[in-house]
Amino acid sequence: MATIISNRALSETIYEMTFSAHHLARRVQAGQFMIVRASSDGERAPFTFSDWNAEEGWVRFVYAVVGETTRRLSRLKAGERIADVVGPLGNPTKVGPGRWVILGGGVGTAVGYPVARALCEAGAEVTAIIAARSKDLLILTDEMAALPIKELLIVTDDGSAGEKGLITAPLERLYEAGALDHGFCAGPIPMMRACAQTAKRFDVPLDVSLNPLMVDGSGMCGACRCTVDGETKFACMDGPDFDGRDVNWSELVARLKRTPERETFPEGRISDFSPVDRGFTRGLARTEAQRCLQCKRPRCVQGCPVGVDIPGFIGHIREGNEKAALETILASNLMPSICGRVCPQENQCEGNCILGLGQNPDGAIAIGQLERYVGDQAPVLEAHQGDQAPQLDHKHRPAKPTNKRIAVIGSGPAGLACAGELARRGHHVTIFESFHVAGGVLAYGIPNFRLPKSVLQREIDDVKKLGVRIETNRVMGRAGTIGELMEKQKYRAVFVGAGAGLPRFLGIPGENLAGVMSANEFLTRANLIYNTAKPDIDEGSGVLPIGPGNRVVVVGGGNVAFDAARVALRLGAKSVQLVYRRSEKELPARAVEVKHAKQEGVEFRMLLSPKEILDDGAASVRGVLCDVMRLGEPDESGRRSVTAVPGSERVLPCDTVIIAVGTRANPLMRRALPEAELDSRGYLVTDENSMTSVEGVWAGGDIVTGSATVIKAMGAGKKAAGAIDVWLKRRS
Ligand code: FAD
Ligand code: SF4
Repeated sequence: MATIISNRALSETIYEMTFSAHHLARRVQAGQFMIVRASSDGERAPFTFSDWNAEEGWVRFVYAVVGETTRRLSRLKAGERIADVVGPLGNPTKVGPGRWVILGGGVGTAVGYPVARALCEAGAEVTAIIAARSKDLLILTDEMAALPIKELLIVTDDGSAGEKGLITAPLERLYEAGALDHGFCAGPIPMMRACAQTAKRFDVPLDVSLNPLMVDGSGMCGACRCTVDGETKFACMDGPDFDGRDVNWSELVARLKRTPERETFPEGRISDFSPVDRGFTRGLARTEAQRCLQCKRPRCVQGCPVGVDIPGFIGHIREGNEKAALETILASNLMPSICGRVCPQENQCEGNCILGLGQNPDGAIAIGQLERYVGDQAPVLEAHQGDQAPQLDHKHRPAKPTNKRIAVIGSGPAGLACAGELARRGHHVTIFESFHVAGGVLAYGIPNFRLPKSVLQREIDDVKKLGVRIETNRVMGRAGTIGELMEKQKYRAVFVGAGAGLPRFLGIPGENLAGVMSANEFLTRANLIYNTAKPDIDEGSGVLPIGPGNRVVVVGGGNVAFDAARVALRLGAKSVQLVYRRSEKELPARAVEVKHAKQEGVEFRMLLSPKEILDDGAASVRGVLCDVMRLGEPDESGRRSVTAVPGSERVLPCDTVIIAVGTRANPLMRRALPEAELDSRGYLVTDENSMTSVEGVWAGGDIVTGSATVIKAMGAGKKAAGAIDVWLKRRS
């Protein structure tokens, strides 16, 4: 056992531990590491020595708190003991005279510091470059500056200290000036790769410390294997230092990739509507959560329209505390199981994740999968933990109801989020929904294989548990107006989340033939009637939108078109062709939907634009006449323009055409709220607080923005709820 002398925080997540260990302090050399086990029930973990004193008999290492093992370490105090220490291990860094650069990134600076000192002692000329994401994550700058080095350069991602940008910029300048003969680099794998690639271009040796690969460090697990100059090496035995120019970085970066989704086999899944993605198990969720860097200024949160504390909930998953993870998400988002399944995370939180930037787009943390995993734990936690469960009404509902009545029009994501937030603040909320089921597009648009109805219903029930009432079959604009709700029924405020449910058509000849329908019609019928299992065609009631044997053409390239195509396959269509006027690269649908559709057998007909739907002579469809399109330069929307290739017409034979080219504002709003200002496309105009031109009436979601996303609609509902609450308080 070794006694801790000090254990201090160098930054919020980086710690430095010093403990007495005469036998190590006498033998250690720069670049070597040790294995530490904090307590008798803890895990073994390798750490590189950052400093030591042979006379006084102590050694030191620096560590980032990234999981349970390091969290335990960070809680230890001076005077307490570490259960086990083994070392020194690994080969010492080769030092010698000449002109050297020491590159340290984040915790890697602590690996570079003793190497810099050893080089100075060996008479080398040393330039040190220390990099971190921001000023408060820089470590050991004073210690490095106190060495007899030639120069110390600081680089931060955000420019909060030293030069703004990447560590390779000053490195390149030094190489260009011919000022270096050798180098040593320690830090995250992407940083070491970038530095090694730069060194290779200038043909200067650069040793990299592959200690981030090590799991156990004793040569027992093989986790640190890597290919160096074509040969398999083990960082803990053969390294940890290797010439970075010879390392196979693609292999190492691939290992940093996210945990893959668990999907069902395409052959089996198109025979029913069961979910395609089976979600993470507990083990996979914890593995993926371990990759998160727990950024101090998390870019992922900036990309989330409802501001979920993403590193917070991921940190709880790492610790195996699903309850705390769920509570963290619920504080900002009432519907994690839904959002985890359908949000386009690749353009939002995941698109912003630091691990997915640059050359590593597949490296982003699988935030959506983790959110879904946590959301899906709610029923498990409720069943097993009773009063300890993160019940919405206990945690988030204020004790004192305000008794103020608020009406919400529409039970889609905007309406549900607004209603839930208002109920949390103690208001008495009633949702009026024109359909016989709640959920909006989540219920009648998105099919079961992407969002099971049971999951939707569970999260709607959670909103109801907050006290929200939902009245279905109430069509505002037909069954009364919003003005009447306020004047006669004394609703103090109204939120309109009525969506953009009116389908657009192409405006080409033949659109009224039998066999042509909008995706809205097709999906609504399939969803509300037949989407839990494959319908029994033989016993069908005649209301099936299509039957087996149909040859279907779907027109469009967004999520709606892909949902329609995949539902058609599941209903038994003989063939499904998806027609889009741009190329596959420009498809607006989520990449994962495109992948699944391909796997399932949807035929892609790209660069085709329908110009007529052809009549079979009996007012039914016999095919679609299309122009072949050619891509041009990007237009003002940033998308590439398209023009028809003259004389290129071709016919796609089919008997069913499903049109999925977008939607428009629901025209009933003109009747429900005749005095409100609408824009030229019929959408409600709102001010910066989401209030319409009618005092006391707010709006959000697709009825304001046009067709967008679930999470944007939820964000709009949540924002309006805050504004309504403030407005009501001012008036009471
Ligand atoms: P909606 O969800 O449209 O809800 C509006 C509700 O208001 C409906 O229930 C409607 O019945 C009700 N209503 C309308 N008029 C009245 C009235 N007069 N009186 C009473 N009630 C009324 N987004 C994603 O982020 N990811 C996806 O994968 C995705 N896939 C999609 C797939 C399909 C098939 C469709 C159609 C859309 C998809 N979207 C997706 C878009 C997303 O679903 C919408 O942007 C989102 O649902 C908009 O929410 P909302 O609450 O504004 O409106
Ligand atoms: Fe940082 Fe990505 Fe984790 Fe967010 S999810 S804290 S951006 S590593």
